Amino acid sequence: MAAGSAIQIPSRLPLLLTHEGVLLPGSTMRTSVDSPRNMQLVRSRLLKGTSLRSTIIGVIPNTSDPTSDCDDLPSLHRIGTAALAVQVVGSNWPKPHYTLLVTGLCRFQILQLLKEKPYPVAEVEQLDRLEQFTNQHKSEEELGELSEQFYKYAVQLVEMLDMSVPAVAKLRRLLDNLPREALPDILTSIIRTSNQEKLQILDAVRLEERFKMTIPLLVRQIEGLKLLQKTRKPKQDDDKRVVAIRPNRRINHIPSTTEDEEEEEDHDDVVMLEKKIRTSSMSEQALKVCLKEMKRLKKMPQSMPEYALTRNYLELMVELPWNKSTKDRLEIRAARILLDNDHYAMEKLKKRVLEYLAVRQLKNNLKGPILCFVGPPGVGKTSVGRSIAKTLGREFHRIALGGVCDQSDIRGHRRTYVGSMPGRIINGLKTVGVNNPVFLLDEVDKLGKSLQGDPAAALLEVLDPEQNHSFTDHYLNVAFDLSQVLFIATANTTATIPPALLDRMEVIQVPGYTQEEKIEIAHRHLIPKQLEQHGLTPQQIQIPQVTTLDIITRYTREAGVRSLDRKLGAICRAVAVKVAEGQHKETKPDHAELGEGGCCGIDAAVYALVRHEFENKQTVTNPKLDFLLLDCKEHVTEDTKSESISDTADLALPPEMPILIDFHALKDILGPPMYEMEVSERLSQPGVAIGLAWTPLGGEIMFVEASRMDGEGQLTLTGQLGDVMKESAHLAISWLRSNAKRYQLTNASGSFDLLDNTDIHLHFPAGAVTKDGPSAGVTIVTCLASLFSGRLVCSDVAMTGEITLRGLVLPVGGIKDKVLAAHRAGLKRIIIPQRNEKDLEEIALNVRQDLTFVLASCLDEVLNAAFDGGFSVKPRVERLNSKL
Ligand code: ADP
Repeated sequence: MAAGSAIQIPSRLPLLLTHEGVLLPGSTMRTSVDSPRNMQLVRSRLLKGTSLRSTIIGVIPNTSDPTSDCDDLPSLHRIGTAALAVQVVGSNWPKPHYTLLVTGLCRFQILQLLKEKPYPVAEVEQLDRLEQFTNQHKSEEELGELSEQFYKYAVQLVEMLDMSVPAVAKLRRLLDNLPREALPDILTSIIRTSNQEKLQILDAVRLEERFKMTIPLLVRQIEGLKLLQKTRKPKQDDDKRVVAIRPNRRINHIPSTTEDEEEEEDHDDVVMLEKKIRTSSMSEQALKVCLKEMKRLKKMPQSMPEYALTRNYLELMVELPWNKSTKDRLEIRAARILLDNDHYAMEKLKKRVLEYLAVRQLKNNLKGPILCFVGPPGVGKTSVGRSIAKTLGREFHRIALGGVCDQSDIRGHRRTYVGSMPGRIINGLKTVGVNNPVFLLDEVDKLGKSLQGDPAAALLEVLDPEQNHSFTDHYLNVAFDLSQVLFIATANTTATIPPALLDRMEVIQVPGYTQEEKIEIAHRHLIPKQLEQHGLTPQQIQIPQVTTLDIITRYTREAGVRSLDRKLGAICRAVAVKVAEGQHKETKPDHAELGEGGCCGIDAAVYALVRHEFENKQTVTNPKLDFLLLDCKEHVTEDTKSESISDTADLALPPEMPILIDFHALKDILGPPMYEMEVSERLSQPGVAIGLAWTPLGGEIMFVEASRMDGEGQLTLTGQLGDVMKESAHLAISWLRSNAKRYQLTNASGSFDLLDNTDIHLHFPAGAVTKDGPSAGVTIVTCLASLFSGRLVCSDVAMTGEITLRGLVLPVGGIKDKVLAAHRAGLKRIIIPQRNEKDLEEIALNVRQDLTFVLASCLDEVLNAAFDGGFSVKPRVERLNSKL
């Protein structure tokens, strides 16, 4: 393919001006195209052309300054290389450009420039065709000698390289097979030469001249190589390697020292990698695969995208903890103390965890169940997982599964994909670096499903103790033993966990906390933690229990303690500002020296602002001013408003320590309370009742509102209800209609047919949340009974229970969470189904003592308990009336 008479290039060639290097016949170069002229050439000639001819272009080394590549065509180098455009790759980043792969065919000379725009086209004369090895005007002998000499040097050079590298072996073969006249061009583009030298070779049209010029370059390279090998000898005696030049890299950019050093380093790394593979403790199967890949890697040119892929793969394989594990230190008594120290309350969970650990202590290699903690957010599921890792002395790694909807997230992508990577399990193992960590699979109930497969199905293999000793990640493609990993899962609800997955786990319910428990948690754990995080000490801030209770009841409404923790963080931040400001002020000069008014510039300004806010009775929005205002409130009273600014000089004094957080401070820091006890307000009209609902976020109180209007007996339900809830509403109405007479319930016109000329609207507020489940049955009945009787439901009663058409009350789930929610909301009496009585035992004694429970087995009992003075049945009076 090199220079020769067989090649006939077109007589008119479009010209590509390259700044980056000099293309010589027989070599290949990748060049970036971004100048307007070259871009035009690529677009209209290479991308649009269909014939082979159209892919032949003239490559002219542009010797002028690339930045001056503006409108005028620079003076062109006379000689160039006709080249075949082998590949065009376009990209828009960081700016639009193409990358061209061109292979040099032969030299040409520009005869005449035919046009300049949009890209230059020239009439050319092919040069290499004229040069024939056999018919030189010099004697054949002389040239033969020259070429022989050149050949010897070339062979010497190649033999200094590592023949086991396939590219070197290939070059060796090429030396014998290629016509000698092609060798100077090819070798010049391989060895280390400057652009200027290459340009000279390009200009050397006569073959004799070319040989003469290339020989010194070869000699220089050989000498350099000798020197390099000498210096490296002691280190790598038996390691004859490719140095300084890379025959496999035919793309010949301007070689620079740093580039070469990098390449050498790369090679060093590959050798190191191979050593690591051989010495690593990976399984036999994995070792086999790795060695095979290593062999492939060595044969690959670095420019190949697969090179990086294979290398990454091998590096991961080496890094994986095939046999590395931490030693378990398990002492049940210590574990108990640690769990107790880290977590307040949650006795049931702690008991089960200790049982689990005890069994592990007695029987190592336990193929035990996977624990799954189910409960509302912020109740400490994750942090118990972390404590378990701590007690066992194991590494801890959390894998968040919320929203994962691609099974490759768990199992990895096959390496055939671009951007393939291992799954989260293997990645986690790489991160922790041991094969027996505690993996916390967080939020298993929030796994998604998509076209990319079901991640829950992929987890089945991970979690099954019978299978996970040979877990195969798609990326690794070899089995990895997961049997030593301790998996713990967490979820908010079991409802959305796929049954097969749930089957492999032992569910431990973690209910929400009572107010008392929250106060204890706050004072034992959350506040000390927050103080430490904010650099505060108990001498600087004091949060009394009443304040904590205020935060819990008025600023948070949650089953866990996460929001409480955040609020405490906000308080600490605000106090930190005050403390820091105080320190700053302490270091300031005495106020007496501050001149008139006793306030320095900033303090005076701040004070003026504070006064302004205070006098206008506006809410302070600038948190920096809040505390100052707090101080001001004590100092600036109504009658001191008009006092001079000097009276408030003590504003600038450091705050008194410890800063006590009372309700006023709370209001200033956290704003007005978010939740007020609104229960009694909302129950001031007939047709409202309070139900108790269970959600994955814990229990909640739920208002049910009803109203009636003239109509045709329609029932309207609003508030995002599920089917079961709608059925409950219909059931409730039917039961009330059939019992209207018994209870003296009438519609607006006094008729016992409640729906006669009447429409009913039932609304379940908080319409953004979908509600479903049968447990609202009793609440709907009570609400409608209130509507039709015109009586108010007691404001401190909440209820839950499923109803039947015959008026029976059936048991429901989530009693503990529901009761806690009612307690949080300050309700006093709770109506629950009789058959749920056993669930009350789980509820903390102090909560039970605060509440009165009414156990109802039929709706009569529910209505009696829900209304002040009962909801009496009046059959006798009715019958008497009718008899009269
Ligand atoms: P979850 O995983 O259940 O959503 P986390 O474990 O993340 O909740 O807990 C949130 C925060 O509450 C953590 O800082 C944790 O330490 C704290 N926490 C929760 N429950 C307790 C408890 N019983 N004792 C001490 N701290 C707790």
